[in-house]
Amino acid sequence: MISRAVARNARAAAPESAPHHLVVFWRPMTDSGKADRIFMEAALEQARLAAERGEVPVGAVVVIENRIVCRSGNRTITDCDPTAHAEIAALREAATEIGNHRVLDATLYVTIEPCVMCAGAMIQARIGRLVYGADDPKGGAVRSCFSLLDHTQLNHRVEVTSGVLAEEAAALLKEFFATRR
Ligand code: ZN
Repeated sequence: MISRAVARNARAAAPESAPHHLVVFWRPMTDSGKADRIFMEAALEQARLAAERGEVPVGAVVVIENRIVCRSGNRTITDCDPTAHAEIAALREAATEIGNHRVLDATLYVTIEPCVMCAGAMIQARIGRLVYGADDPKGGAVRSCFSLLDHTQLNHRVEVTSGVLAEEAAALLKEFFATRR
């Protein structure tokens, strides 16, 4: 990914060829690629492990150059930390792994639509792309309740793909809460 200053110059020089990360792309559910499914399977595995720890089953992996650099499940109870959502834990680990607080060119895969906090963290981390599974009608901050990632006030844009293995992700959550009633 290129810096904002470079991006601005690029736009000034050739407005018709603006860098892809400055534009939000919405892709239909049916268009999710094979790689997205493979990486989402890894995120689902993290969600299952979270459920085994008694955590709400949400899992995330961070992928850079087609390689998983870290994976995490929801850890709020384990860490006694309200911010320890799967996405935050994965982004923290990814930043440490690459030695940069900007996790540039990364794709974050998460089983459920991110909340306001996690969407904010993705902007702070300047990730390039988000791929998520099921929508969260109770708190999703990508499109269900809020549309943070394509807010006009923000310079950074995250490419978004939704609906990848959504049924599996939603089923995990449903099963988890059903056993708790
Ligand atoms: Zn969150």
